[in-house]
Amino acid sequence: MQERQPVWMYLILALWVSLGIVGCATMGEQPQSLVPTQYRTRTGPYAVFSNFPIAADSPAIRSLHSLENDVEANLGVRINSDEPPVEVYILNDRQSFSHFLKFYYPELPPRRAFFLAQGTQRVVFTFMGDRLEEDLRHEATHALLNVAFGDLPLWLDEGLAEYFEGAEAQRGLNKEHLDRLPKDLAAGWKPDLARLETLTSVRQMTPRDYRESWAWVHYLLNDSNSGKTTLLAYLADLRTDPKAATLSVRLRDEDGKGAKVLLAYLDRIRELPVAAVHPTTAATTVRLQDNALDASRPPAQRRSVFSRMRAFFGL
Ligand SMILES: [Zn+2]
Repeated sequence: MQERQPVWMYLILALWVSLGIVGCATMGEQPQSLVPTQYRTRTGPYAVFSNFPIAADSPAIRSLHSLENDVEANLGVRINSDEPPVEVYILNDRQSFSHFLKFYYPELPPRRAFFLAQGTQRVVFTFMGDRLEEDLRHEATHALLNVAFGDLPLWLDEGLAEYFEGAEAQRGLNKEHLDRLPKDLAAGWKPDLARLETLTSVRQMTPRDYRESWAWVHYLLNDSNSGKTTLLAYLADLRTDPKAATLSVRLRDEDGKGAKVLLAYLDRIRELPVAAVHPTTAATTVRLQDNALDASRPPAQRRSVFSRMRAFFGL
């Protein structure tokens, strides 16, 4: 299932992540490095680079730490200290980030954040924005999963990133997705895990597919012990066998009966009181209910993994 990347992509990535060879472009009269390198904050499995100081107790650093704990609590994954750090580059602002993207990847649409991986090098790029912590958690989830399991199936990688991108107190609940799925149903959508599993490029995945991926992951991690056990066993098998039997096979969902189960589950969690779904911090719900940001953040523009960049180029 996994294919080798073209050599030229390796070379581009090498240029990106080698701090001694960062690209430069003229911004105004003074040439400035497009990749932030002035400050380096080593914390847990991450090395965070920026052109401004970041306090150890800043929301960005805390969000990365809480993600590490969330992933360990839910998936039993802890990154060994001898792993190369996940490099996280936080640019100053949207304009700098846009400039950076245009300089290195003019073919790509503007994105808020992205993750690249090649071998043991894992890199996250984003910028100081309103949803920095969410973007960091989403992309860093890809990074932690990549360290632990290698290149996961697209739907599962994105479903897990969607699950963990919210603050710890949200416990994986994405109110935005939950509210939109009934409209998807009305438009003729029906959950189909086996179909999701056939998707291999971001061009194939619609925003609805991302919502469905999140829904399956939320169901598996929360509805029953057997679902979580099955998911964890699948992840463990993927470490050594990318062609391990798929989840739809393990759940015996080839006939699509799982669709009814998933929809019933979504109805159940939708009816839960907010306090039951968000046991510690109801305030975080407010941010997720802001649907206006959804239109400015198409999933296909923010969910890129280096191993899938061929899809953007039609390779
Ligand atoms: Zn993603």
